[in-house]
Amino acid sequence: MAAAYEYETHDYDVVVIGAGGAGLRATLGMAEQGLRTACVTKVFPTRSHTVAAQGGIAASLGNMGPDNWQWHMFDTVKGSDWLGDTDAMEYLAREAPKAVYELEHYGVPFSRTEEGKIYQRPFGGHTTEFGEGPPVQRTCAAADRTGHAILHTLYGQSLKNNAEFYIEYFAIDLIMSEDGQCQGVVCWKLDDGTMHIFNAKMVVLATGGYGRAYFSATSAHTCTGDGGGMVARAGLALQDMEFVQFHPTGIYGSGCLITEGARGEGGYLTNSEGERFMERYAPTYKDLAPRDYVSRSMTMEIREGRGVGAEGDHIHLNLAHLPPEALAERLPGISESAKIFAGVDVTKEPIPVLPTVHYNMGGIPTNYWGEVLNPNAKDQNAVVPGLMAVGEAGCASVHGANRLGSNSLIDLVVFGRAAAIKAGKVVDADAPNPVLNQASIDKAFDRFDGLRNASGAIKTAELRLEMQKTMQADAAVFRTDKTLKEGVEKMTAIAGKMGDLQVTDRSLVWNSDLMETLELANLMPNAMATIVGAEARKESRGAHAHEDYPKRDDKDWRVHTVAHVDGNKVTLSHRDVVKEPLSTEAEGGISLKTIAPKARTF
Ligand SMILES: Cc1cc2nc3c(=O)[nH]c(=O)nc-3n(C[C@H](O)[C@H](O)[C@H](O)COP(=O)(O)OP(=O)(O)OC[C@H]3O[C@@H](n4cnc5c(N)ncnc54)[C@H](O)[C@@H]3O)c2cc1C
Repeated sequence: MAAAYEYETHDYDVVVIGAGGAGLRATLGMAEQGLRTACVTKVFPTRSHTVAAQGGIAASLGNMGPDNWQWHMFDTVKGSDWLGDTDAMEYLAREAPKAVYELEHYGVPFSRTEEGKIYQRPFGGHTTEFGEGPPVQRTCAAADRTGHAILHTLYGQSLKNNAEFYIEYFAIDLIMSEDGQCQGVVCWKLDDGTMHIFNAKMVVLATGGYGRAYFSATSAHTCTGDGGGMVARAGLALQDMEFVQFHPTGIYGSGCLITEGARGEGGYLTNSEGERFMERYAPTYKDLAPRDYVSRSMTMEIREGRGVGAEGDHIHLNLAHLPPEALAERLPGISESAKIFAGVDVTKEPIPVLPTVHYNMGGIPTNYWGEVLNPNAKDQNAVVPGLMAVGEAGCASVHGANRLGSNSLIDLVVFGRAAAIKAGKVVDADAPNPVLNQASIDKAFDRFDGLRNASGAIKTAELRLEMQKTMQADAAVFRTDKTLKEGVEKMTAIAGKMGDLQVTDRSLVWNSDLMETLELANLMPNAMATIVGAEARKESRGAHAHEDYPKRDDKDWRVHTVAHVDGNKVTLSHRDVVKEPLSTEAEGGISLKTIAPKARTF
């Protein structure tokens, strides 16, 4: 018999799960078009991880020198190591300036140039003349608190447009019809323990990344891949999960982020010999080569005995040569973080840093309208009716095997907006809401009840730590056949222990033990898809650096990995990369020759 939980039902045209940059931009866009829109979030909207984004948001405004969307698109294609979907990458680069001006008009307090234009700084991998010219200043910034500025503005605008917020509601599972349509979501209200069902014509997953599958991550503790978990349980696919970005400059010890903007403003890395080693690895772009490149170079220096510190296990980031006024004006937040987390005064000493897990390129596969794909034998681009995914939870895929810095914030707003435009076309506000599939609701409550009453031998925090340490050690910056094979074996055993969990608190009100258990149940399929996908991919591409296969293999591996996860079993298949851009050269687009795959050097 199904577990008995009473619940309240809420009918909407659209329900957005998540109130980070992606969720809020989607919510605002849906509400602006008069769709009845609810936004459900497990944390207060302005506490979403987007608030921590420091460096900025990429768009070819050309405020600080020549720039255009074609150059931005080229850099994104090259940054993705030719794994991104070309149509989506064109859409991103082309729509970016519009999306940033929109943010400006909504009220985002961008930093300004002398003439009052939006200030832009250089960021890794952003160049001119299709990678042939010097670095470009493309990253629009509000000091080093860009995410904070964007998130607060979007929240205010969403309220103004009458979007309805359900704050501190935890989405447990999707409600799916027998024939595979998404009909809504089952939620648990954290502060009073009541249950809620959202019945909607469109569900948008904007739940963010799953950095917390790893031991050391720059992301918030709430980044637990809940959207990916819900999708996996609904029998749908995850894509390109093996591509995990390590940010070069997490503060040694805490993992707290020092933005790439620090190097954009002139900071540089040194080894134990005081050498600016990036000049050797990337003679042209040096410290502003893309993140996968810099993270690997740092790891090589440490491995070859040139790390700094007593253990020789990290690297120095130098800012002390920059004028103190510039640090105070452009990088106030990171100056404070360095003081708090490393005890360092950046005007005098270098910051100890280490590559740290930062971003998930993989996620829920979508087209560039945010519609979720369910690749199957008949149609690789089949769409799941009633379901969208945007932001870090999704995989459009614009970042392919490696994301360029400042390309995530722009992804949030461009695709949040695109999802709203599409929903405006496919959601009929006058149509009745779907008749909910009771079996799907019962299944969600049964799973919830099972975890709530779990009385096995392992505490949630213990199993989570086992997972995080294994992922950190075996799905790391450098990977080998041996570490990956062992990692898959260990993770299969760890995920197999989910049935032996022990939850001590059985209450429904502010039960953090149960919430963390639900989160672990979401992290696990994300982690499994990551390590199994990594083991299968016999090449090196972007963030996936495989020592036994050091070359990129476009013949066999320029394909998306598609993973279906069931418990601790992962089934892999592939989806073709979209190689055609949206517009032809005659229409002002980029030529196929310009974006043809070549070696990725900097
Ligand atoms: C420290 C840091 C700095 C960064 N700096 C930059 C930068 O300068 N430029 C850049 O481009 N990118 C940057 N990034 C990356 C970028 O900020 C993130 O990729 C992006 O903010 C993710 O936004 P999101 O809207 O997808 O998700 P998030 O902002 O993570 O929001 C997720 C939302 O989903 C909700 N949610 C999740 N699960 C559930 C559930 N089960 N039920 C209900 N609600 C749920 C949460 O409450 C939250 O509201 C940075 C990332 C970090 C960690």
